[in-house]
Amino acid sequence: MKPTTNHKSEEHAKTSDLGSLAGEADESAQLVSAPVDQTRIARAVREILLAVGEDPDREGLLETPARVARMYAELFSGLHEDPRAHLRKFFVEQYDEVVLVRDISFNSMCEHHMLPFMGVAHIGYVPNGRVIGLSKLARVVEVVARRPQVQERMTETIAKLLVEELEAKGVAVVIEATHTCMTIRGIRKPGSLCVTSAMKGIFRSNLSSRSEVMNLIYGGRQ
Ligand SMILES: [Zn+2]
Repeated sequence: MKPTTNHKSEEHAKTSDLGSLAGEADESAQLVSAPVDQTRIARAVREILLAVGEDPDREGLLETPARVARMYAELFSGLHEDPRAHLRKFFVEQYDEVVLVRDISFNSMCEHHMLPFMGVAHIGYVPNGRVIGLSKLARVVEVVARRPQVQERMTETIAKLLVEELEAKGVAVVIEATHTCMTIRGIRKPGSLCVTSAMKGIFRSNLSSRSEVMNLIYGGRQ
């Protein structure tokens, strides 16, 4: 798997401190170069229908393999996008307090069961001269979510991307999600919520900074 660079904007690449980042490329942030093969998915879905004892040629199922293939192409589109592209359009601003975007909704696909998990991400960071448009944070969540995922890695990946691309003084990512593999099968615990967090920089090293950002995330809530 080689990362492709077709989506990458080079404009700020030269100014970033590539030396310190080069050795720490996050595998999960890398791109898969082949596009989603919808014909192959459709074939596989037909196989699954046969395997569970269905008749894939009955009227209601005729279009299903192709429909599922289009859906997977959408749900896994993040494999073919570079989330860094959204973080390279930062602007330079002297602001060194916490920037927080709360309740960024997402849906992703659990890689263990190929079942969706959905919820919200909260992202806080303390800039170090590089400030990013707020919608870009949502874009990053979107790209990372649209891959086969586990919530823990998704949380870590987003935090690392911000550390690396913005060189932020601190990054806090908290994700809360419901996993359908927990609610509709197996242990069947509807309403259960999985919370993961990744704290970097001052949010890791400084307890009062961490409390501040956690208060901003949970403060206004009942
Ligand atoms: Zn699962």
